[in-house]
Amino acid sequence: MSLKYPKLFEPLTINNTTLRNRIVMGSMHTGLEDRAKDADKLAAYYAERARGGVGLIITGGFAPTRLGLLMPFGGKLTNQMEVKRHRKYTDAVHAEGGKIALQILHAGRYGYTPVKVSVGWEKSPVHPFQPLKMNELIIRQTIRSYGHCAKLAAEAGYDGIEIMGGEGYLINTFLCERTNKRTDKWGGSTENRQRLVVEIVKEIRKRAPKDLMVIMRQSIADLVSEGQTWDEIALLARKLEEHGVDAINTDIGWHEARVPTIVTSVPRAAFVGYTEKLREEVSIPLIASNRINTPDLAEAVLERGRVDAVSMARPLLADPELANKARDARDDEINTCIACNQACLDHAFVGKKVSCLLNPRAGRETTLTLGPTRTAKRVAVIGAGPAGLSAAVSAAERGHKVHLYEAGSSIGGQFSIAAKIPGKEEFTETIRYFTRQLQVKGVTVHLDTRVDADTLIAEKFDEVVVATGVTPRIPNIPGIDHPKVVTYADAVLGHKEIGKTVAVIGAGGIGFDVSEFLTVDDSPTLDVKEWNQEWGVTDDMTVPGFVDKPRPTTPARKVYLVQRKPGSQGKSLGMTSGWVHKATIKMKGVEQISGARYDKIDDQGLHLSFEDKDARVLEVDTIVLCAGQESVRDLIDPLTTAGVTTHVIGGADLAAELDAKRAIRQGTELAASI
Ligand code: FAD
Ligand code: NAP
Ligand code: SF4
Repeated sequence: MSLKYPKLFEPLTINNTTLRNRIVMGSMHTGLEDRAKDADKLAAYYAERARGGVGLIITGGFAPTRLGLLMPFGGKLTNQMEVKRHRKYTDAVHAEGGKIALQILHAGRYGYTPVKVSVGWEKSPVHPFQPLKMNELIIRQTIRSYGHCAKLAAEAGYDGIEIMGGEGYLINTFLCERTNKRTDKWGGSTENRQRLVVEIVKEIRKRAPKDLMVIMRQSIADLVSEGQTWDEIALLARKLEEHGVDAINTDIGWHEARVPTIVTSVPRAAFVGYTEKLREEVSIPLIASNRINTPDLAEAVLERGRVDAVSMARPLLADPELANKARDARDDEINTCIACNQACLDHAFVGKKVSCLLNPRAGRETTLTLGPTRTAKRVAVIGAGPAGLSAAVSAAERGHKVHLYEAGSSIGGQFSIAAKIPGKEEFTETIRYFTRQLQVKGVTVHLDTRVDADTLIAEKFDEVVVATGVTPRIPNIPGIDHPKVVTYADAVLGHKEIGKTVAVIGAGGIGFDVSEFLTVDDSPTLDVKEWNQEWGVTDDMTVPGFVDKPRPTTPARKVYLVQRKPGSQGKSLGMTSGWVHKATIKMKGVEQISGARYDKIDDQGLHLSFEDKDARVLEVDTIVLCAGQESVRDLIDPLTTAGVTTHVIGGADLAAELDAKRAIRQGTELAASI
């Protein structure tokens, strides 16, 4: 029971299973599902989240048959040996008072494997290898495999199963004309396209125990051309209920959709309206998902009374204790997922183990521990950027006496600049989290204190952590001192006036962010309606897939984004978010110039020359430097010379390829080791 969030903490019964609250941890593939040697790690990962109070955990996707694997030797549940392994997960969760459902996922043409089957011969635009078109025999075997898998899930102790029916995986490809071009009884009419999923549900209901909770992850907005219309989606939901599905967990968008669905710039709870609309069609519990990352937002969704539970996936990676903290009204202690994708989806898509930028312990519960220290030390941490903050809070958690020194008047370092970028407003949650953690863990914070080596030596700390970060690089270009030149920090923090035409030097992550920042006016946050227009999501639900022509807002400035490297820009951007940044600056008319040499800057503007084309002058009012960064390392030599035990982390350690993910990971790992 929670006084603050009465709806969220009201138990929910689905079939025969009562969930202690309405927070569902949505399915996430962590990379620990695939190898037997990782079973204990995966069990510990689930256990930590069950201990943190979540109502229901849905596992990452496990295939019901080899032909549906996500990757070669990927996770599956097809035999008794595997049942034993899955027992570890269910036992671990039940021991903590939680509930767990197995997600059954047939990857279809989204498998990263050369041996895969799909509705047709067509290759996915975002995955390698062509699939084999399923014939009648394979379709029948596949249907049976779902039933078998569900039966094994019950034997392994799962409270339920979730059938992955969205995101462009096998079932979804059968449902949509986009991919289903079949002329047999599995394609053509709506009824034929829906036949596979209906047969799967019937088979599961026939083979699995009656009290096994069966959830359908149903795509309720494909967001691709030739996707389902609303009438088809509604019809399917009704059929699913009729054939014994106990709850629908709603799903948004295919992986190949060109509408972002979960990155940080997507407005919070942007798609809940679709789930609410489904309420008119079925009476079974509905679970809303996508960009619901705080308990107050979840409560507000539930309060409206059309949705029965909320799915929070990444928020439970970022903070396994989210539910307990919400229950106890300790919201300000929640490490809120910022939807950056940097350590979760970006890892998953390149086959790396999933973790979290904010919580490097995610997926490493058994190896990265922050247990109490035997010898409490006096530790000084210099710099309150992400690296210093994570080191300070984690060291204090272990029982060390920590002093944190920050030259600025507030914490956050470069991350505070990031938080000013339109679409990165979530980053302020991280600053809020650390502000509170410094209090909770008893760190002594010295703001407005640019500490020097002599002071630190005189204080006789046991250990000093140098987390002094980075400063913007000032490139050596003739005229760089011209008044029209500003650093990205001054531009974003509003320290300098920015004109109507701007050249941005450097097209790395910051160059892209700053270009976006410059093209929007002072009130950048779009509401859901404006955002839908910008990305071409129509509210005409007779349009298959609900996608239309994007109608972006008018850019506030003319921006040129320039780099020295030839070729396309943005190669260093995140795998699952980079395409959004690239599409955004294109929509905003940013002119991208590659292969440039910076000859000089003068009253006229930025003078460029090129290897293979004519020189050109960008006649701009302002030039913003996003030319990378340099480490701030002035404390290191004096401290080490004086024999002080000194550690260097984050940008101070290495400016190249620095991001908050590395900064926070280094801070946490260091704290775990001292
Ligand atoms: P910093 O953040 O530089 O912090 C160092 C701190 O040390 C500063 O607060 C400084 O004032 C303080 N300091 C320095 N010297 C002293 C001293 N002698 N005494 C006391 N204090 C001192 N990263 C991502 O992962 N994802 C993103 O999407 C992302 N977007 C970004 C967007 C922008 C516009 C910017 C600018 C950065 C972005 N970053 C992003 C990068 C991220 O913010 C940095 O990688 C991260 O902040 C580096 O952390 P740090 O702690 O090493 O250093
Ligand atoms: P960056 O990605 O290294 O980009 C620096 C840019 O400056 C490059 O495009 C480089 O391109 C140019 N450059 C380097 N030296 C130069 C010089 N001497 N003169 C002129 N141009 C020069 O670094 P960043 O953009 O500063 O970002 C810093 C870190 O923050 C990155 O590592 C990134 O991971 C992180 N970040 C991440 C995100 C995200 O969304 N994940 C967003 C923002 C920042 P050329 O050499 O081709 O000119
Ligand atoms: Fe959320 Fe980013 Fe962590 Fe993924 S890496 S869980 S998106 S904060």
